[in-house]
Parts: sequence; structure tokens; C-alpha cells
Amino acid sequence: MTVPALTAETRWRCTLCGNLTRFDVTRTARVTEFLHFDLAGESEVEETEVLSETIESVRCRWCNAVDQVELVARPGAEGTEAPAEQG
Ligand SMILES: [Zn+2]
Repeated sequence: MTVPALTAETRWRCTLCGNLTRFDVTRTARVTEFLHFDLAGESEVEETEVLSETIESVRCRWCNAVDQVELVARPGAEGTEAPAEQG
């Protein structure tokens, strides 16, 4: 099973236990970082540009299921089943 890609309107949900919030994500990313060094030689990443990114696996922190996630709508996104707030 492949991991579905997240979008602005969707989030992951573990299909086994319903977890929405905690996942261990293993990914390969190619990034360019802007390292800013201070005079002592300590560096801090001030900017990160992701050139390419591949999610290899997603493990649920609750039940340890691997790659058992589906996409569901985020609250407030179009098509969500959550009741709309009134007023
Ligand atoms: Zn789970």
C-alpha cells in the first residue's frame, strides 16, 4: 500500500485505529539549506528549500500499523462531514 499524498484540504487517518494526529514518517528529501553561522561557529538553518521529497512509509504511533493511512478532509475543508459552525 502506498502512502497517499497530503494536500491543503486533506489529512491522514489511520484506517485501523482512527488516529489523526501522530505518525512516524520516513522520508527521503533533497533540500537546500541556508546555514547561518555565528562567530562561535554554531550554525542555524534559516531557510530550507525542498527540491524533491519522497515519503517512504508512515507508521501510526498508536497502533504501529505501517502505511495504513487514508486521506480524509480536514475540518472546514469542502466536503468534510463535520457539522458547519453556526454564527
Ligand atoms: Zn493506528
